[in-house]
Amino acid sequence: MGNWKTLLSASVFCAVLAACESTPTHRPSITILPPQPRPAIVWPPPQPPVVVTPPQPRPPQPPVVVTPPQPPQPRPPILQPPAYNAAISGVQWVSLEAWGLAQARAQFARLGAESDLTHLLRVNGTRLELKADNRVVLCDGVRLWLAHAPKLMKDHLYVHPLDIQKNLTPILSELPKNHRIVVIDPGHGGDSRGTQSVFNKAYEKEYTLDWALRLKPLLEAKGWKVHLTRTRDTAVSLAGRVAYADKVKANLFISLHFNSAASEHTGIETYCITPVGMASHMGRGAADDTRTVLPNNAHDAPNIQYAARVHSAMVGHVGMTDRGVRRVRFMDVLKSQKRPALLLEGGYLSSPEEARLVAMPEYRQKLAEGVAKALP
Ligand SMILES: [Zn+2]
Repeated sequence: MGNWKTLLSASVFCAVLAACESTPTHRPSITILPPQPRPAIVWPPPQPPVVVTPPQPRPPQPPVVVTPPQPPQPRPPILQPPAYNAAISGVQWVSLEAWGLAQARAQFARLGAESDLTHLLRVNGTRLELKADNRVVLCDGVRLWLAHAPKLMKDHLYVHPLDIQKNLTPILSELPKNHRIVVIDPGHGGDSRGTQSVFNKAYEKEYTLDWALRLKPLLEAKGWKVHLTRTRDTAVSLAGRVAYADKVKANLFISLHFNSAASEHTGIETYCITPVGMASHMGRGAADDTRTVLPNNAHDAPNIQYAARVHSAMVGHVGMTDRGVRRVRFMDVLKSQKRPALLLEGGYLSSPEEARLVAMPEYRQKLAEGVAKALP
Protein backbone atom coordinates (compact mmCIF):
# COMPACT_ATOMS: atom_id res chain seq x y z
CA MET A 1 0.00 0.00 0.00
CA GLY A 2 2.92 2.43 0.73
CA ASN A 3 4.39 2.08 -2.77
CA TRP A 4 1.65 3.73 -4.69
CA LYS A 5 1.72 6.68 -2.22
CA THR A 6 5.45 7.12 -2.75
CA LEU A 7 5.03 6.93 -6.52
CA LEU A 8 2.23 9.51 -6.40
CA SER A 9 4.21 12.08 -4.38
CA ALA A 10 7.32 11.56 -6.58
CA SER A 11 5.20 12.25 -9.75
CA VAL A 12 3.82 15.43 -8.20
CA PHE A 13 7.33 16.61 -7.27
CA CYS A 14 8.58 15.98 -10.84
CA ALA A 15 5.64 17.85 -12.26
CA VAL A 16 6.46 20.90 -10.07
CA LEU A 17 10.12 20.77 -11.18
CA ALA A 18 9.07 20.61 -14.84
CA ALA A 19 6.84 23.60 -14.26
CA CYS A 20 9.75 25.55 -12.74
CA GLU A 21 11.99 24.93 -15.78
CA SER A 22 9.47 25.94 -18.21
CA THR A 23 8.82 29.16 -16.32
CA PRO A 24 10.45 32.17 -18.19
CA THR A 25 13.14 33.97 -16.06
CA HIS A 26 15.76 36.86 -16.41
CA ARG A 27 18.97 35.71 -18.21
CA PRO A 28 22.47 37.31 -17.52
CA SER A 29 24.43 38.74 -20.51
CA ILE A 30 27.05 36.47 -21.99
CA THR A 31 30.67 37.52 -21.50
CA ILE A 32 33.22 35.88 -23.74
CA LEU A 33 36.41 35.25 -21.80
CA PRO A 34 39.75 35.28 -23.65
CA PRO A 35 41.11 31.87 -24.20
CA GLN A 36 43.02 30.74 -21.21
CA PRO A 37 46.45 29.39 -21.85
CA ARG A 38 46.17 25.75 -21.64
CA PRO A 39 48.88 23.88 -20.00
CA ALA A 40 51.17 22.32 -22.50
CA ILE A 41 50.66 18.66 -22.82
CA VAL A 42 53.89 16.84 -22.41
CA TRP A 43 53.89 13.45 -23.81
CA PRO A 44 54.99 11.05 -22.68
CA PRO A 45 54.43 12.09 -19.08
CA PRO A 46 57.67 12.59 -17.19
CA GLN A 47 58.89 9.44 -15.55
CA PRO A 48 60.87 9.33 -12.31
CA PRO A 49 64.53 9.11 -13.16
CA VAL A 50 65.69 5.59 -13.58
CA VAL A 51 68.33 4.78 -11.01
CA VAL A 52 70.68 2.18 -12.35
CA THR A 53 72.27 0.32 -9.50
CA PRO A 54 75.66 -1.06 -10.23
CA PRO A 55 75.67 -4.83 -10.57
CA GLN A 56 76.12 -6.48 -7.19
CA PRO A 57 78.88 -8.99 -6.92
CA ARG A 58 77.38 -12.49 -6.64
CA PRO A 59 78.05 -14.36 -3.50
CA PRO A 60 80.67 -16.97 -4.14
CA GLN A 61 79.16 -20.20 -5.32
CA PRO A 62 80.53 -23.53 -4.26
CA PRO A 63 82.55 -24.98 -7.06
CA VAL A 64 80.64 -27.42 -9.10
CA VAL A 65 82.07 -30.83 -8.58
CA VAL A 66 81.40 -33.21 -11.30
CA THR A 67 81.65 -36.70 -9.94
CA PRO A 68 82.69 -39.28 -12.42
CA PRO A 69 80.00 -41.78 -13.12
CA GLN A 70 80.14 -44.55 -10.55
CA PRO A 71 80.84 -47.97 -11.88
CA PRO A 72 78.01 -50.29 -11.03
CA GLN A 73 78.54 -51.97 -7.65
CA PRO A 74 79.95 -55.41 -8.15
CA ARG A 75 77.29 -57.85 -7.19
CA PRO A 76 78.33 -60.64 -4.90
CA PRO A 77 78.98 -63.61 -7.06
CA ILE A 78 76.54 -66.38 -6.65
CA LEU A 79 78.68 -69.04 -5.10
CA GLN A 80 78.22 -72.67 -5.68
CA PRO A 81 77.97 -74.57 -2.39
CA PRO A 82 81.46 -75.57 -1.31
CA ALA A 83 82.83 -79.05 -1.52
CA TYR A 84 83.15 -80.39 2.03
CA ASN A 85 86.88 -81.13 1.61
CA ALA A 86 89.71 -79.68 -0.46
CA ALA A 87 93.08 -81.43 -0.60
CA ILE A 88 96.23 -79.39 0.02
CA SER A 89 99.52 -81.29 0.06
CA GLY A 90 97.70 -84.50 0.78
CA VAL A 91 95.71 -83.07 3.73
CA GLN A 92 91.94 -82.80 3.45
CA TRP A 93 91.07 -79.27 4.58
CA VAL A 94 87.44 -78.71 5.61
CA SER A 95 85.00 -76.10 4.34
CA LEU A 96 84.04 -73.85 7.25
CA GLU A 97 80.61 -73.29 5.72
CA ALA A 98 79.84 -76.94 4.95
CA TRP A 99 81.14 -78.15 8.31
CA GLY A 100 79.55 -75.29 10.23
CA LEU A 101 76.09 -75.63 8.72
CA ALA A 102 76.09 -79.32 9.65
CA GLN A 103 76.05 -78.26 13.33
CA ALA A 104 72.78 -77.79 15.15
CA ARG A 105 71.27 -74.28 15.01
CA ALA A 106 74.02 -72.91 12.77
CA GLN A 107 74.15 -69.78 10.63
CA PHE A 108 76.87 -68.82 8.18
CA ALA A 109 77.58 -65.48 6.54
CA ARG A 110 80.30 -63.54 4.73
CA LEU A 111 80.75 -59.98 5.97
CA GLY A 112 82.74 -56.98 4.78
CA ALA A 113 84.54 -56.07 1.58
CA GLU A 114 85.40 -58.73 -0.96
CA SER A 115 89.09 -58.03 -0.35
CA ASP A 116 88.79 -58.48 3.43
CA LEU A 117 86.02 -60.97 4.01
CA THR A 118 85.09 -62.17 7.46
CA HIS A 119 83.54 -65.63 7.49
CA LEU A 120 81.05 -65.69 10.33
CA LEU A 121 79.77 -68.92 11.83
CA ARG A 122 77.24 -68.75 14.63
CA VAL A 123 76.39 -72.03 16.33
CA ASN A 124 74.08 -72.28 19.30
CA GLY A 125 74.87 -68.77 20.51
CA THR A 126 78.66 -68.93 20.00
CA ARG A 127 80.03 -66.62 17.31
CA LEU A 128 83.21 -67.47 15.40
CA GLU A 129 84.84 -65.04 12.98
CA LEU A 130 87.59 -66.27 10.64
CA LYS A 131 89.59 -64.70 7.83
CA ALA A 132 91.68 -66.21 5.10
CA ASP A 133 95.43 -66.33 5.80
CA ASN A 134 94.93 -65.25 9.43
CA ARG A 135 95.45 -67.64 12.37
CA VAL A 136 93.44 -65.50 14.76
CA VAL A 137 89.83 -66.58 15.31
CA LEU A 138 87.51 -64.26 17.17
CA CYS A 139 85.39 -66.40 19.45
CA ASP A 140 82.59 -64.29 20.92
CA GLY A 141 84.89 -61.33 20.30
CA VAL A 142 88.05 -62.67 22.00
CA ARG A 143 91.15 -63.93 20.27
CA LEU A 144 92.42 -67.44 19.94
CA TRP A 145 94.87 -68.91 17.47
CA LEU A 146 94.39 -71.70 15.02
CA ALA A 147 97.27 -74.05 14.27
CA HIS A 148 97.08 -73.10 10.58
CA ALA A 149 95.74 -70.01 8.85
CA PRO A 150 92.55 -70.88 6.92
CA LYS A 151 92.80 -70.76 3.12
CA LEU A 152 90.45 -69.41 0.49
CA MET A 153 89.78 -71.84 -2.35
CA LYS A 154 87.24 -71.12 -5.08
CA ASP A 155 85.92 -68.31 -2.84
CA HIS A 156 85.26 -70.69 0.07
CA LEU A 157 87.18 -70.77 3.33
CA TYR A 158 88.88 -74.04 4.27
CA VAL A 159 90.18 -74.90 7.75
CA HIS A 160 92.91 -77.40 8.61
CA PRO A 161 91.40 -80.64 10.02
CA LEU A 162 93.51 -80.33 13.19
CA ASP A 163 91.86 -76.97 13.90
CA ILE A 164 88.42 -78.42 13.29
CA GLN A 165 89.18 -81.25 15.71
CA LYS A 166 91.17 -79.42 18.41
CA ASN A 167 89.78 -75.90 18.30
CA LEU A 168 86.46 -75.33 16.56
CA THR A 169 84.61 -78.53 17.50
CA PRO A 170 85.35 -78.28 21.26
CA ILE A 171 84.62 -74.54 21.40
CA LEU A 172 81.18 -75.11 19.95
CA SER A 173 80.44 -78.08 22.25
CA GLU A 174 78.83 -78.10 25.67
CA LEU A 175 81.14 -78.24 28.68
CA PRO A 176 81.58 -81.75 30.09
CA LYS A 177 79.28 -82.60 32.98
CA ASN A 178 81.84 -83.41 35.65
CA HIS A 179 81.78 -83.41 39.38
CA ARG A 180 82.60 -79.85 40.22
CA ILE A 181 85.83 -80.09 42.16
CA VAL A 182 88.30 -77.33 41.28
CA VAL A 183 91.80 -76.55 42.46
CA ILE A 184 92.64 -72.86 42.42
CA ASP A 185 96.39 -72.32 42.39
CA PRO A 186 97.65 -68.92 43.55
CA GLY A 187 100.95 -68.64 41.66
CA HIS A 188 104.26 -68.41 43.58
CA GLY A 189 104.44 -68.07 47.41
CA GLY A 190 107.21 -68.06 50.00
CA ASP A 191 110.60 -67.64 48.36
CA SER A 192 109.04 -67.62 44.92
CA ARG A 193 107.81 -64.06 44.98
CA GLY A 194 106.95 -63.76 41.29
CA THR A 195 107.20 -60.52 39.43
CA GLN A 196 107.23 -57.15 41.17
CA SER A 197 104.78 -54.30 40.69
CA VAL A 198 106.29 -51.15 39.19
CA PHE A 199 103.50 -49.24 40.94
CA ASN A 200 104.11 -50.15 44.58
CA LYS A 201 106.87 -52.81 44.63
CA ALA A 202 104.36 -55.45 45.81
CA TYR A 203 105.00 -59.01 44.62
CA GLU A 204 102.91 -61.18 42.35
CA LYS A 205 102.55 -63.84 45.07
CA GLU A 206 100.46 -61.43 47.22
CA TYR A 207 98.07 -60.58 44.43
CA THR A 208 97.60 -64.17 43.20
CA LEU A 209 96.65 -65.27 46.74
CA ASP A 210 94.20 -62.41 47.10
CA TRP A 211 92.63 -63.26 43.69
CA ALA A 212 92.26 -66.91 44.75
CA LEU A 213 90.70 -66.02 48.12
CA ARG A 214 88.16 -63.80 46.31
CA LEU A 215 87.38 -66.50 43.73
CA LYS A 216 86.81 -69.31 46.25
CA PRO A 217 83.49 -68.10 47.73
CA LEU A 218 82.15 -67.12 44.31
CA LEU A 219 82.67 -70.66 42.99
CA GLU A 220 81.37 -72.23 46.20
CA ALA A 221 78.20 -70.19 45.77
CA LYS A 222 77.79 -71.87 42.36
CA GLY A 223 78.14 -75.33 43.90
CA TRP A 224 81.84 -75.99 43.27
CA LYS A 225 84.02 -77.67 45.85
CA VAL A 226 87.07 -75.41 45.91
CA HIS A 227 90.60 -76.31 47.05
CA LEU A 228 93.50 -73.85 47.13
CA THR A 229 97.11 -75.05 46.69
CA ARG A 230 98.04 -72.47 49.34
CA THR A 231 96.06 -70.19 51.61
CA ARG A 232 99.06 -68.33 53.06
CA ASP A 233 102.44 -67.05 51.90
CA THR A 234 104.02 -70.50 51.71
CA ALA A 235 106.26 -72.11 49.10
CA VAL A 236 104.67 -74.93 47.10
CA SER A 237 106.61 -76.70 44.34
CA LEU A 238 105.10 -76.98 40.87
CA ALA A 239 105.06 -80.78 41.21
CA GLY A 240 103.43 -80.35 44.63
CA ARG A 241 100.61 -78.31 43.08
CA VAL A 242 99.93 -81.03 40.49
CA ALA A 243 100.09 -83.73 43.17
CA TYR A 244 97.62 -81.76 45.29
CA ALA A 245 95.13 -81.67 42.42
CA ASP A 246 95.50 -85.46 42.08
CA LYS A 247 95.01 -85.90 45.82
CA VAL A 248 91.72 -83.97 45.97
CA LYS A 249 90.58 -85.57 42.65
CA ALA A 250 90.08 -82.22 41.01
CA ASN A 251 88.05 -82.00 37.79
CA LEU A 252 89.55 -78.64 36.89
CA PHE A 253 92.79 -76.81 37.73
CA ILE A 254 93.24 -73.05 37.41
CA SER A 255 96.57 -71.37 38.12
CA LEU A 256 96.56 -67.61 38.75
CA HIS A 257 99.42 -65.28 37.81
CA PHE A 258 100.31 -61.74 36.84
CA ASN A 259 102.60 -60.92 33.98
CA SER A 260 105.83 -59.04 33.34
CA ALA A 261 107.46 -57.72 30.16
CA ALA A 262 108.44 -54.37 28.68
CA SER A 263 106.38 -51.53 30.14
CA GLU A 264 104.20 -51.07 27.05
CA HIS A 265 102.77 -54.60 27.25
CA THR A 266 99.25 -54.75 28.67
CA GLY A 267 96.32 -57.15 28.85
CA ILE A 268 95.00 -60.51 29.92
CA GLU A 269 96.17 -63.91 28.64
CA THR A 270 94.91 -67.45 29.13
CA TYR A 271 97.15 -70.48 28.56
CA CYS A 272 96.55 -74.15 28.00
CA ILE A 273 98.66 -77.03 26.70
CA THR A 274 99.40 -77.23 22.96
CA PRO A 275 97.73 -80.18 21.21
CA VAL A 276 99.96 -82.64 19.35
CA GLY A 277 100.75 -81.42 15.85
CA MET A 278 100.43 -77.72 16.67
CA ALA A 279 103.14 -75.15 17.30
CA SER A 280 103.20 -73.32 20.64
CA HIS A 281 103.04 -69.57 21.06
CA MET A 282 106.28 -69.61 22.99
CA GLY A 283 108.71 -72.09 24.45
CA ARG A 284 110.77 -70.16 27.01
CA GLY A 285 113.81 -71.59 25.28
CA ALA A 286 112.57 -75.18 25.51
CA ALA A 287 112.24 -77.21 22.33
CA ASP A 288 108.72 -77.17 20.97
CA ASP A 289 108.50 -80.50 19.18
CA THR A 290 104.99 -80.63 17.75
CA ARG A 291 104.99 -84.46 18.07
CA THR A 292 105.31 -84.25 21.88
CA VAL A 293 102.53 -86.04 23.70
CA LEU A 294 101.98 -84.67 27.21
CA PRO A 295 99.73 -86.22 29.90
CA ASN A 296 97.48 -83.15 29.75
CA ASN A 297 96.91 -83.66 25.98
CA ALA A 298 94.26 -86.17 27.05
CA HIS A 299 92.20 -83.08 27.93
CA ASP A 300 92.73 -81.01 24.79
CA ALA A 301 89.02 -80.57 24.15
CA PRO A 302 87.89 -79.39 27.62
CA ASN A 303 91.11 -77.33 27.92
CA ILE A 304 90.14 -75.09 25.02
CA GLN A 305 86.46 -75.12 26.05
CA TYR A 306 87.27 -73.82 29.52
CA ALA A 307 90.05 -71.55 28.24
CA ALA A 308 87.81 -69.84 25.67
CA ARG A 309 84.97 -69.40 28.15
CA VAL A 310 87.09 -68.17 31.06
CA HIS A 311 89.13 -65.85 28.87
CA SER A 312 86.05 -64.38 27.21
CA ALA A 313 84.34 -63.80 30.56
CA MET A 314 87.44 -62.23 32.14
CA VAL A 315 88.14 -59.88 29.25
CA GLY A 316 84.47 -58.94 29.04
CA HIS A 317 83.99 -58.43 32.77
CA VAL A 318 87.25 -56.61 33.49
CA GLY A 319 87.39 -54.69 30.20
CA MET A 320 91.13 -55.14 29.66
CA THR A 321 93.20 -55.64 26.51
CA ASP A 322 92.60 -59.10 25.06
CA ARG A 323 95.91 -60.90 24.52
CA GLY A 324 94.15 -64.10 23.60
CA VAL A 325 94.06 -67.79 24.47
CA ARG A 326 97.57 -69.13 23.93
CA ARG A 327 99.15 -72.56 23.69
CA VAL A 328 102.34 -73.70 25.40
CA ARG A 329 104.13 -76.96 26.21
CA PHE A 330 106.68 -75.77 28.76
CA MET A 331 104.44 -74.96 31.74
CA ASP A 332 105.13 -77.64 34.34
CA VAL A 333 102.06 -76.77 36.38
CA LEU A 334 99.87 -77.64 33.35
CA LYS A 335 101.56 -80.34 31.31
CA SER A 336 101.22 -83.25 33.76
CA GLN A 337 97.70 -82.45 34.90
CA LYS A 338 95.17 -85.28 34.61
CA ARG A 339 92.29 -82.87 34.21
CA PRO A 340 91.55 -79.74 32.18
CA ALA A 341 94.05 -77.12 33.31
CA LEU A 342 94.43 -73.40 32.64
CA LEU A 343 96.87 -70.70 33.60
CA LEU A 344 95.53 -67.14 33.75
CA GLU A 345 97.61 -63.97 33.55
CA GLY A 346 95.52 -61.17 35.07
CA GLY A 347 97.54 -58.19 33.85
CA TYR A 348 101.08 -56.80 33.64
CA LEU A 349 102.77 -55.68 36.86
CA SER A 350 105.44 -54.19 34.58
CA SER A 351 102.92 -51.75 33.06
CA PRO A 352 102.57 -48.60 35.21
CA GLU A 353 98.85 -48.38 34.36
CA GLU A 354 98.03 -52.05 34.95
CA ALA A 355 100.22 -52.30 38.06
CA ARG A 356 98.14 -49.44 39.51
CA LEU A 357 94.91 -51.31 38.63
CA VAL A 358 96.09 -54.63 40.07
CA ALA A 359 96.88 -52.85 43.33
CA MET A 360 93.15 -52.00 43.64
CA PRO A 361 91.05 -54.62 45.50
CA GLU A 362 88.13 -53.74 43.18
CA TYR A 363 90.15 -54.84 40.16
CA ARG A 364 91.09 -58.17 41.75
CA GLN A 365 87.43 -58.69 42.69
CA LYS A 366 86.49 -58.10 39.04
CA LEU A 367 89.04 -60.69 37.94
CA ALA A 368 87.55 -63.21 40.38
CA GLU A 369 84.01 -62.46 39.20
CA GLY A 370 85.07 -62.84 35.57
CA VAL A 371 86.45 -66.32 36.17
CA ALA A 372 83.46 -67.36 38.27
CA LYS A 373 81.04 -66.17 35.58
CA ALA A 374 82.57 -68.54 33.03
CA LEU A 375 82.18 -71.70 35.08
CA PRO A 376 78.84 -73.52 35.17
ZN1 LIG B 1 103.74 -65.96 37.80
